[in-house]
Amino acid sequence: MTRTADVVIVGGGVTGASIAYHLAQRGVRKILVLERKFLGAGGTGRSIGIVRQLYPTPETTQMVLRSLKIFQSFGDAVGGHAGYTGCGVLIGVSPSMRPQLEKTLTLQQALGVRAQVLEPSDVARVDGRIDTTGLGAVLYEPESGYGDPVGVTSGYADAARRRNVVIEQGTAVTVIATRGARATGVMTTAGERIEAPVVVNAAGLWSPGIAALAGVTLPIVIGRHPVFIVERDAGFGAPHIVYLDLAGGSYVRPESGGLTLTGSLTDDETRHPMDPELLGAEVGLDEAEGVLERTSRALPRLADARYRQGYAGAFDITPDWMPILDESPVRGFWIAAGMSGHGFKLAPAVGEMMAALITGAEPPVSASPFRLDRFATTGTAGTFVSSYLR
Ligand SMILES: Cc1cc2nc3c(=O)[nH]c(=O)nc-3n(C[C@H](O)[C@H](O)[C@H](O)COP(=O)(O)OP(=O)(O)OC[C@H]3O[C@@H](n4cnc5c(N)ncnc54)[C@H](O)[C@@H]3O)c2cc1C
Repeated sequence: MTRTADVVIVGGGVTGASIAYHLAQRGVRKILVLERKFLGAGGTGRSIGIVRQLYPTPETTQMVLRSLKIFQSFGDAVGGHAGYTGCGVLIGVSPSMRPQLEKTLTLQQALGVRAQVLEPSDVARVDGRIDTTGLGAVLYEPESGYGDPVGVTSGYADAARRRNVVIEQGTAVTVIATRGARATGVMTTAGERIEAPVVVNAAGLWSPGIAALAGVTLPIVIGRHPVFIVERDAGFGAPHIVYLDLAGGSYVRPESGGLTLTGSLTDDETRHPMDPELLGAEVGLDEAEGVLERTSRALPRLADARYRQGYAGAFDITPDWMPILDESPVRGFWIAAGMSGHGFKLAPAVGEMMAALITGAEPPVSASPFRLDRFATTGTAGTFVSSYLR
């Protein structure tokens, strides 16, 4: 059996769903999303959904601002529930990081970011439970917070379906068909051939494998990032703020039911490559201990929290910890991958940008920092923190 489509999107995570919606908005007619399992089955379903605005470049700043606006009005703008909680985000930095923080914030404020650098002693007026000992400064972003990655994915998917996008779950792409250096479609586990002049690789943690099907090598490492869930003690009081301790190397994000999600900001995930099929695997308390110790230093009231569970998450990481949003050397085969652990908060803007690029329109934000060929000359490397400050 052979079908045709104008665009086939491989992957039904938040990236693929957002791209499908934005392409339909631009009037592309026959869009097919193929998801091997179910919507949000990949990194999206394991994401903790923090939305911070601190980014090191003008383009990433513009993208997170565009995304934040969508999260804040998701029901009206897209439809559905983003679960966005604008509880505010605090980001603690060491004394040596402070000059870079101030420089970056000046750039960001000129682009419209609402945030301020607090003296550590002033943090108590935002959340008195944070321990600022040893910090050089704390950034306060009052509008930032967290959202529901699966809710956002469903919202985009439902809105895309209302615009006649076809989303097929339980169908994996097995072949990217090419003729010369052009994509001509895909083949699936259903044994079906789908002819399409445009194929988009939005396969997240599986994107290097999908690219390889077209003979394209992506500079992406799948790196392990475990998440730990603790239960705050009964006397904890109101949920804490989202706190990212870049100096101490941990983060906390409140969850409903008196829970807190936490993880490391110091481990270099690129040094812990992971088979994406192990996503969600149970993690033992032994692995959590170091992180929980750092978390308790940052938020001492969590020292009495009860460990509930840990699971293996993973990031698709590029050498500069920024996404690849570009057409590959195989014409018509596009890449929207390498989200490097922050693809939820950028997803609305990524969808918008990819839809513009694919339809030949001017993207709302310059796409040049996201080109695939940038790694040929830069050879950059860093850790997750380099996606905040450089
Ligand atoms: C633990 C964790 C915490 C995170 N925290 C944050 C955060 O706080 N803030 C933030 O902004 N970001 C965060 N992220 C990152 C963010 O969630 C991801 O970057 C984003 O969800 C990736 O979405 P995606 O659609 O690109 O990829 P994925 O969600 O991985 O989706 C790819 C999809 O492709 C499908 N697929 C794979 N192979 C095939 C095939 N052959 N055919 C068809 N379909 C296929 C998969 O089943 C999957 O559903 C976190 C991620 C993790 C794992």
